[in-house]
Amino acid sequence: MQAVVPFQEAVDIIKEEGGDVAKLCYQCGLCTGTCPWNLVRGFLVRKTMHQAQLGLPDFEDDDMWLCVTCNACVKRCPRGVEIIDVWRSFRRAITELGIGGIPDALRITSKNISGVGNPQGEDREKRNDWTRDLGVKTFTKGMEILYVPCCYNTYDPQLQPAARATVEILKKANVDFGILGPEMSCCGESVRKAGNESLFQSLAQSNIGLFNEAGVTRIITASPHCFHTFKNEYPELEGKYEVVHFVQFLAELIRDGRLEFTKELKKTITYHDSCYLGRHNDIYDEPREVLQAIPGVELVEMANHHEDSLCCGGGGGRIWAETKKGERFSDIRLEQAADVGASVLAAVCPYCIANFKDSIVTMNKEEVIECKDIAELVLEAL
Ligand code: SF4
Ligand code: SF4
Repeated sequence: MQAVVPFQEAVDIIKEEGGDVAKLCYQCGLCTGTCPWNLVRGFLVRKTMHQAQLGLPDFEDDDMWLCVTCNACVKRCPRGVEIIDVWRSFRRAITELGIGGIPDALRITSKNISGVGNPQGEDREKRNDWTRDLGVKTFTKGMEILYVPCCYNTYDPQLQPAARATVEILKKANVDFGILGPEMSCCGESVRKAGNESLFQSLAQSNIGLFNEAGVTRIITASPHCFHTFKNEYPELEGKYEVVHFVQFLAELIRDGRLEFTKELKKTITYHDSCYLGRHNDIYDEPREVLQAIPGVELVEMANHHEDSLCCGGGGGRIWAETKKGERFSDIRLEQAADVGASVLAAVCPYCIANFKDSIVTMNKEEVIECKDIAELVLEAL
């Protein structure tokens, strides 16, 4: 039986979340043509914008949970419709009014984050276990930089090498940095895009309180998602800091001569522009600058790159959802990387790297290509 939608309440939430920008849409269909879902299945973004103009969309439709917030459609929309805000507003209405079906994976992840501060549901007290043999300091007042490694790099053994490489590089460059303890929580970026605004607000308030109490002024992030949310969304809640993604900081260290390469990396590498560093924040040059500074590296571009990059499929909470074989964007991306002869697919986002590593295994490509964080590649050549 379909849930009864409390019409006025749903409309109010959608308006509050900025979803009424759909009224600007003039149905050109460019968004549908741009959306990566249409590479693997039909997904009519234009149709949903039209439904939103007429009243309310079908909240029971699984399509409500597909958008990966890649920003490709927003960049192309001639009417400036913030299409991601429209999806986010629908998801918030579903979440707050209990209408429509929230995917089980999202429910479980939200419960984990709200309970222990991380999507994996791991013990808070184990948050910094990955640093045990690295001698990383806890951030204290007066330190230059807070390093935030992201829950994924923190708890996932497959991704920890990126955080470990970052720490080793920062030490080699004599950077004054520290990390926060188990009280640090998920940044909340994907939680917000998945429609759980109240959980986002509580995570953000808690992290901002910690940052302010510790006297944080400059933050370096491993994840483009943490980067985006600390830089562009925490200021709404009076959390104002200088926020830099690690690859930008790496470029700065190399330019300033604070890192010295001593080895050649004779590899053909292609770089995957993550949506949240690229299309959401226009950072395209620094990752390429860093890779080209590594002696021996040949940098090649895939069919889709820079603003035209293809999402890995992990944004908007999709990193927590099961995406069936045949519909994984990361599989297509891996084929693109292999097509240009790359032996390494370089990335700077834990979600992208997790998805690509999965695709490498499920597509039996271990002998052909590997996926690494740029920090790992830099460390290999130091
Ligand atoms: S691109 Fe913009 S104007 Fe065109 S259909 Fe999509 S939302 Fe509407
Ligand atoms: S943000 Fe990306 S996934 Fe979402 S509707 Fe637009 S193009 Fe599709």
